[in-house]
Amino acid sequence: MCAAIVCIPCTGTAQEPKPDAHAAEGAAYREVLQTLCSAEHAGRVSGTVGGEQAIAFLARRFAALGLLPMAADSLRQPFATKDPEPPQWLPKTSCKVLVDGHESELKINQQWAPFPFSVEGTIAAKVVFAGHALAIPELGIDDFAGLAVRGKVVLALRGGPRWRAGDAAVRAYLPQLSFRAKAERVAALGAVALWIVDRADEKAAPLDFASLNQTTGAGAVPMLFADRATVARCFVGGSDGLLAAQHALDQGQALLALCDVHLELCIAASHRPKLGTANVVGQLLGSGEQRDELVVLGAHHDHIGMGRFASLAGPEGIGQLHPGADDNASGIAGMLLLAQRFRERGPGNRTLVCVAFGAEELGQLGSRWFVDQLTSPRKVAAMIDLNMIGRGQSGTLVAYGTGSGAGLAALVAAHAERCKLPIELRDRSSYRADQAVFLLNATPALLFTTGLHSQYHRPSDVPERVEVAAALQIVDLVDSVLIDLVNGPRRAFVAGNNR
Ligand SMILES: [Zn+2]
Repeated sequence: MCAAIVCIPCTGTAQEPKPDAHAAEGAAYREVLQTLCSAEHAGRVSGTVGGEQAIAFLARRFAALGLLPMAADSLRQPFATKDPEPPQWLPKTSCKVLVDGHESELKINQQWAPFPFSVEGTIAAKVVFAGHALAIPELGIDDFAGLAVRGKVVLALRGGPRWRAGDAAVRAYLPQLSFRAKAERVAALGAVALWIVDRADEKAAPLDFASLNQTTGAGAVPMLFADRATVARCFVGGSDGLLAAQHALDQGQALLALCDVHLELCIAASHRPKLGTANVVGQLLGSGEQRDELVVLGAHHDHIGMGRFASLAGPEGIGQLHPGADDNASGIAGMLLLAQRFRERGPGNRTLVCVAFGAEELGQLGSRWFVDQLTSPRKVAAMIDLNMIGRGQSGTLVAYGTGSGAGLAALVAAHAERCKLPIELRDRSSYRADQAVFLLNATPALLFTTGLHSQYHRPSDVPERVEVAAALQIVDLVDSVLIDLVNGPRRAFVAGNNR
């Protein structure tokens, strides 16, 4: 099955890069890392100025390598992306609470804040307390029983009764405890807003004004959060009353503990124009009988910017550069080296398409767009994704998806053996990354990665920590596999390994 191997760059053959060539490749690899991770690119969020500059840099590199546009005479393949940044609230955004006739204006981001996914609106209404805003008949929970909700603001606790205590019965209904589900539930009952307060036992992951912007959901009504001290003033008995209400709910009882509370709320956001971003797509035309078939080599160029979404650095990470050296400048730099090697060797049988995908961090939007634009996904004979290959020395190289094409596992194993490169093979795709999009379109697809580590999605993911010599060995291995995919027999897709 592997008879069509044309050359084996990582063994002692004439095709092996000379030591000075490897040194030159190492320098080129480092230069790409430094450029993509510079402050100028601001962490390469798709749809931002820094992200756009990274795309322009890659388009120039693709052109210099002699990669040709696939369509419309441009190496850029533009598509619309979603806004990853939390909204900026306009100054008129405000919240006033009247408790038994006493009025107080709440301070935004100190006492209250809208959820980042809240619906906008202006509301003045009475507040009702509806437990955890749950209705789960199987557990005998109906927080709305006997409560008139229409036209009111629903005040509710986050989560569900006893859920942090590990109550399996409640945890089985986790999707119903989500912000999204609660918003939809109260909207269906005619409520005008949903007001969330944390439970007293949310010690592990308390909701605060920093973590609020990392929450996800969809608002069916205006949604706000306030801290417990502020909400306690609305309860008979203050914070004791709020705690007693929570304990009563944990015992399966309801407690009518709320004072006469009214809320005047205005939530208004400034809207940014619809964001655009792009994949960078370039091809090296094949000259063989299968030149109409494509082999795709991909790596995502975007990252998470200044830590305003998807950061694992906590509140200290917000506003800090997340350079994304391993995730995924390491893969992009590897792809550029491979493109250069293929360019220098001259045309292969099939056409090699190099794609720097955008918006991977926002849900593989770039690879989805690329696959959707193909006239026939079946024209793609195979795909290789390089995503985080910068820990080849301290971590473990894994090839995912080797079960997705006939003979792929044996092919990768044979080349790794020749390269003396330790590797783990996984039949399945496992990771939700760009290669998974190709698997869903019945294309054999491999992901090469050295995996997650303690710098992942943190400001410490810097170029200096990328293990360049090991990354070049991975490039050598991928080169051998790619040569076979471009010139060798087509690998039939094997279904059932796309999870
Ligand atoms: Zn990432």
